[in-house]
Amino acid sequence: MTLRFIIVGGGPAGNSAATWAARLGAEVVMIEREIVGGGAHLLDCIPSKAMIATGGAMSATKRFAGMGIEQHDVEIDVDSLAERIGGIVNRLQGTTTQLLESQGVTIIRGEARFVGPKEVVVRGPEGEQTLRGDAFLVATGSRPRIPDWCKPDGERILTTRDCYPPKVFPKSIAVVGSGVTGVEFVHMFASFGAEVTLVVSRQQVLPGKDPEAAAALEDSFLNRGVKLLKGARATVIDREGDGVVVKCDDGREVRATHAVLAIGSEPNVEGLALDIAGVELDPRGYVNIDRHCETNVKGIYAAGDVSGKLPLSSVASMQGRKIAEHLMGANRATHRHLDYDKAASAIFTQPEIADVGLAEAEAFANGRKIRVTKVPFSSTAKALIHNDPRGFVKLISDPNTGQVLGGTIVGRHAGELISVIALAVTAHLKVADLLDTLFVHPALAEALLDAAE
Ligand SMILES: Cc1cc2nc3c(=O)[nH]c(=O)nc-3n(C[C@H](O)[C@H](O)[C@H](O)COP(=O)(O)OP(=O)(O)OC[C@H]3O[C@@H](n4cnc5c(N)ncnc54)[C@H](O)[C@@H]3O)c2cc1C
Repeated sequence: MTLRFIIVGGGPAGNSAATWAARLGAEVVMIEREIVGGGAHLLDCIPSKAMIATGGAMSATKRFAGMGIEQHDVEIDVDSLAERIGGIVNRLQGTTTQLLESQGVTIIRGEARFVGPKEVVVRGPEGEQTLRGDAFLVATGSRPRIPDWCKPDGERILTTRDCYPPKVFPKSIAVVGSGVTGVEFVHMFASFGAEVTLVVSRQQVLPGKDPEAAAALEDSFLNRGVKLLKGARATVIDREGDGVVVKCDDGREVRATHAVLAIGSEPNVEGLALDIAGVELDPRGYVNIDRHCETNVKGIYAAGDVSGKLPLSSVASMQGRKIAEHLMGANRATHRHLDYDKAASAIFTQPEIADVGLAEAEAFANGRKIRVTKVPFSSTAKALIHNDPRGFVKLISDPNTGQVLGGTIVGRHAGELISVIALAVTAHLKVADLLDTLFVHPALAEALLDAAE
């Protein structure tokens, strides 16, 4: 008998589980209440990257000045940028829907809630219907976290999701939160010419990331006129006249025309009635999962942001595929559990920052012996040719075996180049394997070869 797999949520986690399970022979039904492709994915991740790409193109004109090209001022057209973002989102929504339908996945529009461990009720435009399944996936994603000390109004006090498509560009903006999303928004608004102040609750932006990478980003922000308010925790954001005021716990205040909250996200679990299905949440409200991404109830899985692991589209998609394989009993012989410690991630700022695997600070904290080699991009011909020698490659390996354990890259295309180290980490390659690989010349990737020497 065909297994019926019901997926709640059509983001990267839900999509990937749906297409893989359908290919492996399941009857798949996907329920999505808002946008096929995913709320966090298509209404946050993709628009923010599209705006950063436009901002990056504007600032690239400054680099061209050193390349024998006469400098011209460029101007931003808000309407065509909004149209461009809408176009990308519509296109991705369309291709995702087509892919799902071509694999035989049934998409139902509406909001789902559990009425038992094998049953959900969907409330949608056509009324309510009850669906029975053999297995379920909770892939309901997350939304921007809003603290109780601030009420975003969508006009001056913004969540990340209020920022696109852009209606106006802030003259000045206070960014609250200095994690990955916060620094990307600083970079984005600074590229569009806003006066930006970043409220940093600690002494380093990007807490937890490589301190040298964080320092390179801070330098770049300061050179671009961004103000860093370090060691300041925002406690209130209020409207004041035509602008806003951010008040911090140490008495300091930031005045700007706008403020944006970038203090993380929270899981979409309300209204799902997971308790009725018997599914347990962790103390933060995320769904508890085991290494197969299965919850405490057999046959109910959870993946993506709602599972409280790494909030990345790439991780959500990989979890989805692993769930489909586990559910359908596929690839048992070659199955490898998802190792969250080996997920590559990137921060799309200038300079770009990317990392994977073991970090230098983590190794020292655990007393683990490592070999660290650091090579600046300025030593490669390609960086000089492109008039951007900023940044470095840091490769971390085991001094005894030569195995590649991790790395951090700061500079142009860091998010692309990190894939080489990610592959080396996942495939247990050694620095000697990198050294024996014939890379392209001239290429920024040659810095990886130098780091492997
Ligand atoms: C500003 C920002 C930038 C980001 N940039 C990156 C990046 O550069 N790279 C990266 O890898 N990740 C990035 N992310 C993270 C990434 O967007 C998420 O990790 C990813 O989208 C999670 O996928 P998901 O499937 O769990 O959830 P989502 O994409 O949120 O999809 C979940 C879906 O479930 C639906 N849903 C919820 N409840 C119900 C219900 N009861 N019934 C029916 N449907 C329901 C929602 O409508 C939603 O469409 C970024 C996030 C933010 C906020």
